[in-house]
Amino acid sequence: MPQTKQSQVSMPEQWLVVSDLDGTLLDHFTYSHSAADPTLRLLEEQAIPLILNSSKTREEMLELRQSLNNHHPFIVENGSAIFIPEGYFPRKPEHAHDENGYWVLEPGASRARLLEFLERDQQKHPRTYLNFEAASTEEIVAATGLSTAEAVQAQARDYSEPLLWQGDEQQKAAFIARANAAGFSTLQGGRFLHLLGQTDKGIATRLLKKTYQAFSDREYRLIASGDGPNDLDMLRVADIAIIVRSPVHPPPALNAHPQLIVTDELGPLGWALAIRAALFPDTQQFQTGGSTP
Ligand SMILES: [Mg+2]
Repeated sequence: MPQTKQSQVSMPEQWLVVSDLDGTLLDHFTYSHSAADPTLRLLEEQAIPLILNSSKTREEMLELRQSLNNHHPFIVENGSAIFIPEGYFPRKPEHAHDENGYWVLEPGASRARLLEFLERDQQKHPRTYLNFEAASTEEIVAATGLSTAEAVQAQARDYSEPLLWQGDEQQKAAFIARANAAGFSTLQGGRFLHLLGQTDKGIATRLLKKTYQAFSDREYRLIASGDGPNDLDMLRVADIAIIVRSPVHPPPALNAHPQLIVTDELGPLGWALAIRAALFPDTQQFQTGGSTP
């Protein structure tokens, strides 16, 4: 039967859940996700995809994704790249390339392009930061106090370059302006200034939602959850925004969002209760520790 205009009006909706990891799905101190596990299973049973969206690298996320028993697309390095398991959609999405069993979309910039910019920039301006690419692991350990393993991990990035700033604030502002003018962006982390492409968690989330939508007649709706300032872009593009309360900092301010939940509970328990309240209001009296039948 041919599709009519009328059938498009009453498209059923399909939810997508996008979530940060540290401090949201993972406990801030223990990195445990056990309080979220029953709700993760419920999402899976209801065929609601959970998209992990973090500042972590591909390698780090592959490990966590396995531990969370998740097989959906995921977003790495603050919106820099989207990894979609090959065959997840009926066809390879437009502009995606193949890489080790994944279709990869790259809203961000490759590390090679970032390093090229840094090299050019250094020729005109004195270097006022420790460049991880140029430094040895020992130098990074000595300068940052990271463990050797953490330093190795911090160096192993594909789409961003952490810089340990050693100059003053004025020099930092000038550097950020030059990076923006060259088509890059910066993100201030707890310890490092990260140089990355002009992307963020929200830009990548919107692109992935568009990709789901391109292969479906149902109308996709988005729930996003996070605990930190770098989650705000992702929360802004969501139909329902969940700010998960942190034990170490106040909830970031998200103004004028039409449907915002700030959890009472911390980390993965707060996440689970908010997801239940939003999607499964009949199942809120659930056990967090026990196994499900
Ligand atoms: Mg977080």
